[in-house]
Amino acid sequence: MIQFQDVTKTYSRSHTHALQKVSFMINQGEFVYVTGHSGAGKSTLLSLILRRIQPSEGIVYILGQDLSKLKENKLPLLRRKLGMVFQDHRLLSHLCAIDNVIFVLRATGEKGDLEGRALRALRQVGLAHKRKAFPVELSLGEQQRVAIARALVTNPPVLLCDEPTGNLDPDTSWEVLELLNDVNLKGTTVLVATHSRELVDQLRKRTLVLRNGRVVRDDEKGGYSL
Ligand code: ADP
Repeated sequence: MIQFQDVTKTYSRSHTHALQKVSFMINQGEFVYVTGHSGAGKSTLLSLILRRIQPSEGIVYILGQDLSKLKENKLPLLRRKLGMVFQDHRLLSHLCAIDNVIFVLRATGEKGDLEGRALRALRQVGLAHKRKAFPVELSLGEQQRVAIARALVTNPPVLLCDEPTGNLDPDTSWEVLELLNDVNLKGTTVLVATHSRELVDQLRKRTLVLRNGRVVRDDEKGGYSL
């Protein structure tokens, strides 16, 4: 589903080897953390999956597709299959929860009962009752759950999360993590990039540890402190 084959990424301007000979395979239905200190290469890895950047060497396969062979006009289709959740939820402040979710459906050209689909996505994250609330009327955890609903509404097979609990207190982080676990149990492949050892220790899952651009550990049942 997601495969890196000897992937090296060198940023030529700074001569930084952000990733060096990274290889791993993530199968459908897995929940995987990519962790490591700041500067270890986590964002570079996510950017390669989204094909915002191309590797200097090696091959990235997403859903069986060699990304170096993907034509520019097929990029929107690829990205539609990759739901994305960020640290700052990036909700539109002038739209209520359900309209934030509908906005994504419209932007991707979906037709039909958009409101019904958006409501189902909000129900999935336990926020159907807050559908008319604006972002400022929601707690940070609720805002992040709306962001997850927005990422899931197009039924992507893969959910990519970049520091999804970065702005949240421990209890709220745990709620978001449980929600991501539920999403995974329903079949979505989940990849969480985080530097937080608390997060990785809270819910034990396969953990890829990056250090200076190399995978230094790939543990089935994770945990930062192992
Ligand atoms: P992380 O997400 O784990 O903090 P990054 O992937 O952002 O790590 O960064 C890995 C390394 O690559 C760092 O040394 C960083 O300074 C460098 N880097 C990241 N993006 C760029 C860029 N656009 N240009 C030059 N160097 C970069």
